[in-house]
Parts: sequence; C-alpha cells; structure tokens
Amino acid sequence: MAKRYSFLMQVNHAFDKAAALTEHDPTVLKTIKAVNSVYHIQFPILRDDGSIEVIHAWRAEHSHHKQPTKGGIRYSMAVNEDEIMALAALMTYKCAVVDVPFGGAKGGIKIARHKFSEAELERITRRYTFELVKKNFIGPGIDVPAPDFGTGAKEMAWIADTYTSLATGELNALACVTAKPVSQGGIRGRTEATGRGVYFGIREACDNPEDMKRLGLSRGLEGKRVVVQGLGNVGYHAAKFLAECGAVIVGLAEYEGAICNPKGLDVDEVVEYRRTNESIVDFPGAENVESKAALELDCDILVPAALENQITEENAPRIKAKIIGEAANGPTTGEAADILFQRGCLILPDTYLNAGGVTVSYFEWVKNLSHVRFGRMEKRFEQGAYRRLLKAVEKVTGKHFTDAEINEIARGASEEDLVNSGLEETMVMAYQQLIEIREAHEGKITLRTAALINAIDKIAASYEHLGIFP
Ligand code: GLU
Repeated sequence: MAKRYSFLMQVNHAFDKAAALTEHDPTVLKTIKAVNSVYHIQFPILRDDGSIEVIHAWRAEHSHHKQPTKGGIRYSMAVNEDEIMALAALMTYKCAVVDVPFGGAKGGIKIARHKFSEAELERITRRYTFELVKKNFIGPGIDVPAPDFGTGAKEMAWIADTYTSLATGELNALACVTAKPVSQGGIRGRTEATGRGVYFGIREACDNPEDMKRLGLSRGLEGKRVVVQGLGNVGYHAAKFLAECGAVIVGLAEYEGAICNPKGLDVDEVVEYRRTNESIVDFPGAENVESKAALELDCDILVPAALENQITEENAPRIKAKIIGEAANGPTTGEAADILFQRGCLILPDTYLNAGGVTVSYFEWVKNLSHVRFGRMEKRFEQGAYRRLLKAVEKVTGKHFTDAEINEIARGASEEDLVNSGLEETMVMAYQQLIEIREAHEGKITLRTAALINAIDKIAASYEHLGIFP
C-alpha cells in the first residue's frame, strides 16, 4: 500500500515541483510556502435540548504578502488543522493566478451541520465570529471569510451582523465577509460565480484547437459529455451553465448515490427530485450507479465539485474522461494527477478553475468599500448614449429600429452584467497566462504546475523590493 500523504503535504509537494522550475531565491520560496498563522479554537455551545457541546474550529492565514487574507469557511466533520492549512495555501495561489489582491486563508468548523438546528448553527457561527474578532482574525483589511463546503449566504449574514455589531462606527465593516445576501451588502452574481467561472474555464479549454486535437475531441462545448460530482452550489451552477451552452450532462453524483443517462439529465429536474425524495437515487429514466463509481463513467469531461482527494492513484487508472475540471479544491491527488497526465488527460487545476468565487468576492469587497453599487453612476448614461447612436444610424440608413431592438441594443450595464463581464475577463485572461507558461516549458508541464509557477512568480514579485532577502 502506497504511503498516504496529508493534504498539506500534497499541496506543498505540488508547490515544490513548480518552484523547482523557477529561479527564485530559496528563502523567498520558503517564505511563500509557509502557513503564516493558524488559530485553533474550542468553545462550548448550548444545544436546544439544554446540553452543552464543545466545538472545534480553525482559521488559517497562509500568506500576508497581500492583505487582507481571503478564503471560505467550511462546516464538515472532515475538517481538521491540516486540511484548513492546505486549503488556505491553495487560496493564496488561486488569488495570485486570477490577480485578486489578497493573501490566502481558510476556516473550518468541525460539525455535521445536518445534526444542528438553525438556531444552533446561528449560535455556533456567531460565537466563531466573536472568537475571530477577539484574536484579530477577521476584518475588512485583515481577513475576509466567505462560504465554502457546507456554508452559504445565511452564515455570511450572521458573520456580518456579529462583526458589525462589535465594530461600532467602522465605516467599512460590511466588507468583513463576502457572499452576503444582496440585502446585507452582497453583490449580484456571487452565488453563481464559482460555477460560472468553472464554465468559463472549461469553455476556454475546449476552445483551444491544439489541446482538443491532441485529446481527439472536437472544438467547443457542443455535445461534450459531462459527469459532475457534487450538486452543491458549485456543482449545480457549473452543470447548469455547461448544459445551457450545449454540453450533455450524462452523470450526476452525490454522497448517497449517483445516476447516469447517456441521453442527458436535466439538472433542475434532478435537484427538484432530490429535494422531494431526499436522494438522487432512482431518478426516473436514469440508471443508478454507486456514488464513487460515477467518476469512472464514460464521458469527455469529469467535474469533481465536492471535496478533496476524490481522484486517487487507486481509481485514476479507471477514469475515462479526457478533461478533468477541478471545481472542488484538491480533488485530484498528486499521484493521480501524474497517472492522468501520462495518459494525456487535461486537468484544469482548482487554483484556476474554481477561482470565480473569490474573484466575485473581490468585486463585492470593492463594492462594500466604495459604498456604491456597480453600474449605478453610468447605467442610464450608457443607455442614453446608445440611443443617440441608434437614432444617428436610423437617420443615415433610413432603417427604423423597433422598440424591442432599441431596448436590446441600447442597454446600460447593470451590476450583474458588470460582475459577469469582470468574471469572464478574469477567467479568459488567466487561462491565456497558463497556456503561455505551459508553452514556455514546451508543453511538458501540467496546467497545475503552470498555475503554481504563475502564482509563485507573482507572489515573489511582491517581495522583490523589500530587501529582506539576500
Ligand atoms: N470558498 C471559496 C473558494 O474556495 C470562495 C472563497 C472566497 O470567496 O473568499 O475559493
């Protein structure tokens, strides 16, 4: 049996591999790799039945080369210190890859969230936030959490409320956390952002003629057979955007089981069925598959959108997909990635592919600091300018535009339009950078290594003029 490496060891191993291909000073590399600070908290919580439970929670800040640090908070029984440190490191590299000016962080609370009532979850979340405040592990310019596995907008609203109630008079207090509900200072498009970013990344990959030729696939998303593991916020939205753009969702996996249908599954219908039946199994018209075996289904693109360590050296040899889209953080182990690379598989790495969430979190943070909704100043002005332009075209051509045409063409950008356009720009540009780095290494490195080289170069540049390294 092969030695099992911890998650942090795996992330560091991937880092070392990329670092060896750079020319940076070893002390700079060592500084970048280190997890700067870890806070482990244990606090008691009053259960609804009057009993007391001691909760374990963590927050790790990996790199302060840019501040604040940024990263989600997960609620799961699998949470432990090593995992949180590894995920914090991935956040640092991810932010650098997509040019989001934050250091990386991650938090986690070790609970099975379905075993707690909403009131209990609120008490846990507020107490956790209070503990972070006490030790300076949260704040608009310090460390800014967001959702992750097992958390969402509601938890972020509790965090924002706890923080703002303690930060009397702090004008920018709402920027202490992102992915809040829009009514609490959130931004439109954040909920879908990670899934939308996954879609943009896969679309870019499928648009690359050389890669598609090498994989024996046609160019574009049309007709590509996709399997998605995880129907949470990320998996659901990724599947939905991919299907809307012509891909066929042939398999969907959840922890209770998986389903497949080569003719395609309607993601919304499956989600609705799962809500009613509390299981994905026996979805009408589909065949049941064992949960983990769904990763091995015949498909073109496999999108693991659940947890880390799903594709290992054990199941990698049986995986049929030619493209792996890492929507989750760390779903493919280093050994599995090597096996798949040898086989010619294209892995779109997590540090790039799931960066849409933190990208739009950055937009939300900027919105909170600027205290004005994106598009508020220019939307009407743009609309007026386009209308004047259309009138001029009418005059010159003699053509008359219908009201529907005018409304469609002469439209000022809304907050959501701007968020989605900023996200698309980010994902497209970041992909180009990865391809350039891979080319510079004559195509001999994986995109995972290219992403890490990219991150290391950018982070090292931020230390360049400080004079603290030889
Ligand atoms: N938890 C998400 C991630 O892993 C989002 C982080 C954020 O928005 O800060 O990227």
